[in-house]
Amino acid sequence: MDLILKNITVIGKDGENITDIGVSQGTIVAIENNLSGDAETFEMQGNFAIPGFVESHIHLDKACIMDRCKSEEGTLAEAIREVSAAKEGFTVEDIRHRAIQTLEKSIVQGTTRMRTHLEVDPVIGLKSVEAVMPLISEYSWAIDLEICVFPQEGLLNNPGTDELMVEALRRGVHVVGGCPYTDTNPRGQIERIFEIANRFDVDIDFHLDFDTDPSGMTVIDVCEFTDKYSYGGRVAIGHVSKLSALQTDQLEIVANKLAASGIAVTVLPSTDLHLMGGGRDHNIVRGVAPVHRLLQHGVNCSLATNNVLNPFTPFGDCSMIRMANLYANISQIGKDSDFRSCFEMVTNRPAKLMRLEDYGLEIGNPADIVVLNCRSDLAAVQEIALPLYGFKRGRKTFTHRPPILHKP
Ligand SMILES: [Zn+2]
Repeated sequence: MDLILKNITVIGKDGENITDIGVSQGTIVAIENNLSGDAETFEMQGNFAIPGFVESHIHLDKACIMDRCKSEEGTLAEAIREVSAAKEGFTVEDIRHRAIQTLEKSIVQGTTRMRTHLEVDPVIGLKSVEAVMPLISEYSWAIDLEICVFPQEGLLNNPGTDELMVEALRRGVHVVGGCPYTDTNPRGQIERIFEIANRFDVDIDFHLDFDTDPSGMTVIDVCEFTDKYSYGGRVAIGHVSKLSALQTDQLEIVANKLAASGIAVTVLPSTDLHLMGGGRDHNIVRGVAPVHRLLQHGVNCSLATNNVLNPFTPFGDCSMIRMANLYANISQIGKDSDFRSCFEMVTNRPAKLMRLEDYGLEIGNPADIVVLNCRSDLAAVQEIALPLYGFKRGRKTFTHRPPILHKP
């Protein structure tokens, strides 16, 4: 062994217990008490270890642009319009600089795996892909990064976009995304995305049904094409705020369809709260899909950051545990089991969505270990626990010092 973490709390089959973790050449080789040897050893004082947070939905290319955008209406239309105008000034170097800022913030918040969504269209071309692709290897010491390309401003209505999406996939991006709500032909876009995905044998991640009108859900079209292409387990849909407007019996119908088709749902609480329910001055609609209830129907669900410091979301510290806490707050979570679900929705559930088969604190897996300043998953969500240390494949990647109280 070359690394030993002593006295660390892990979740085992019988709940939390304190143990040691041994690592050799970047791989977990032992999880048992009283490990010793001449390995580098860290005393963890009973703090809680996780395999790192999994961020399945974040836009690195349009992060950190509040200084060049207006955000006065706080509406989706304004956000798309403002970012669309700002994109004309993006360069590869500029995107790279902002992506690195955001990536490094995510790393120190304990994220070890990430899927980023990058825009492709005739205005921005492939600049986002060219800026972010090199970061996969440059930051592999701290995070595993995969890229999803998608047409934020529509596909069938935006000539030239399709060719660019295909070219990005030829260059090796990992996932194809869609945004039917900005397309003049939403169903047509969904169908075309499935054709492209099937041709390149890649997974799909849509932005979908992003308003609070319960009518006109395209989620049903996505179910239909998922079944037609036998794509169950390979499709995710993000936002789906229309689900927040459904009554229980309608929600159950959609949940059962999603579960049967094998479609995962990602809620983006910060963006959804910011952009939904606009134009009202009281009883403001939250517009956050109740994913903890979808879980009960067998739908895999996740929580993610989405945007950081842009008109879609003028907030952002890239903290996944804060996102879990935010969701728990606004969804009025009270039961311990639901708090645990919130924790799972920023860890092993997005890992399942991204089909990360080597994720988890288990012997034989990469030694991706993040130590939180708490003793359990429940406390992590309730207290927004501070990530104290991160390790990626057994190498230390960051340290946060817990605060020191200077008593008189
Ligand atoms: Zn998004």
